[in-house]
Amino acid sequence: MASIYRFKALLNLYIMKRRQKMRISCSGCGKKAKKIDQLGLCSECGGMITVHYDLERMRDKPKESFFHGTGVWRYCSLLPLSSTDSPVSLGEGGTSLLRSQRLGEILGMSKLHLKNETTNPTGSFVDRGTTIEMTHARDLGYRSIACALSGNLSASVAAYAARAGMSSEALLLPSIDLAKLYQIVAYGAKISQVKNQTEAERKLIAMGEEVHCITSQSPFFLEGIKTTGIEMLEQMNWHPPDRIIVSIGSGAHLMMIWKAMKELEEIGLINASRVKMTGVQMTGCAPIVEALGKKKQASRDENSVHLAREIAIHHPHMTERVIEAIKDSGGTAIAVEEREIIDAVQLLARAEGIFAEPAAAATIAGLKNLLEERTVERNERVICVITGTGLKEPVTSARALRRFAGSRKTAIKMEKRIEMLDLGETKESILHLLKAKDDYGYGIWKGLKQEENIQISVVSVYQHISELEAADLVRKDRIESSPKRRNRVLYSLTPRGKRYLASRTDIEK
Ligand SMILES: [Zn+2]
Repeated sequence: MASIYRFKALLNLYIMKRRQKMRISCSGCGKKAKKIDQLGLCSECGGMITVHYDLERMRDKPKESFFHGTGVWRYCSLLPLSSTDSPVSLGEGGTSLLRSQRLGEILGMSKLHLKNETTNPTGSFVDRGTTIEMTHARDLGYRSIACALSGNLSASVAAYAARAGMSSEALLLPSIDLAKLYQIVAYGAKISQVKNQTEAERKLIAMGEEVHCITSQSPFFLEGIKTTGIEMLEQMNWHPPDRIIVSIGSGAHLMMIWKAMKELEEIGLINASRVKMTGVQMTGCAPIVEALGKKKQASRDENSVHLAREIAIHHPHMTERVIEAIKDSGGTAIAVEEREIIDAVQLLARAEGIFAEPAAAATIAGLKNLLEERTVERNERVICVITGTGLKEPVTSARALRRFAGSRKTAIKMEKRIEMLDLGETKESILHLLKAKDDYGYGIWKGLKQEENIQISVVSVYQHISELEAADLVRKDRIESSPKRRNRVLYSLTPRGKRYLASRTDIEK
């Protein structure tokens, strides 16, 4: 089976290149990219790979012949895959572009639109890229897929791997949002923990050629997420808005929406020079905002970010290209506070009925600030891209719950039910032990046995601890060294862990 797909894939690539439909080149060394490495970059120089199409030829064709079908695959003529007979698809794309009524009114804008990407199969815009990259990988005969760091991308890759009958592995930070972790586990992916981006990249490279790695730089993935831009322009009858606002993590989405604008311009469908690409980052993790010459902010450790982790990236690979897109289009970028993001989640949900994840609602927070500082005019035609669903990040949901619910008592009761789903008796006992004193793994194991009468293996204790770390209830506090024995790691409760126990005691009272 796999070999038939591989043969078809190679034939397909050959035909497409032969017809000069596309050319794949490296933006680093400028050469035709012969080989793409595990991180999705040029294996000769580590540069970004770009796909070019013969747009000149398309220009002369009747416009109605360009796009057929539905969803992402409707835009095949501007995608690197032409075969649509059996894509690895879950029905991605085809999301609504909503004319904002109430939010627009609140912000004093009459022409605000929302591109609602929360309705994609796994709840995030990344599905648009995953369907293309996974179809390509399946066609090349790969049976195993790996992905790292981004919870949204890992969840998406896990889902599409399941759909294609392939195995998948996700390399994740301990701070991953719980609901994304649940998604990844549910789709059957193997999970490994990594400390940071460097370790994740080292592990992806070490996986070898048997495994196809998908990153936010993978060229076919990038081409897929470009369709957010094409689709919204088609929904606007090819009348470009004045401004498109997108949150920036790696910056890939903003960069690719701009590529879509340029391509649509080249084939004569729109006048792209009008669209100001505008990015939103988070205070303390805003390298693009800083590079654009806005004031330098106190840098924040990635692990200290509790919200909107998808956009808390300190060293995005494609910084230069993102800056280029913003500058070329006459756009800008702005950083917003966590507090403003929580307000934006609430505002968007209450005014428009869209429950977005913090990283997605950040665009609304950014727009609000840009209006206040008069960078954006109230009569502009603006599209805010809402990239993913709010059900992905229970931390905000819980915080929001306290603010949304009319009565604090009801909120605490509801919260208790939510948290009870997360924790079992053993984990609660571990939290109680750590409330009494910081302890190391073996000490916790003894405490469970002697004080709580829970007898489980030391390995299981560590498993529980790592899940509590992932939930941000427990953290590695310090290393205790002694000449007599091996160093040991002491665990303690995080502020969230303490709050959790406090709210539990409130309820029991
Ligand atoms: Zn190169």
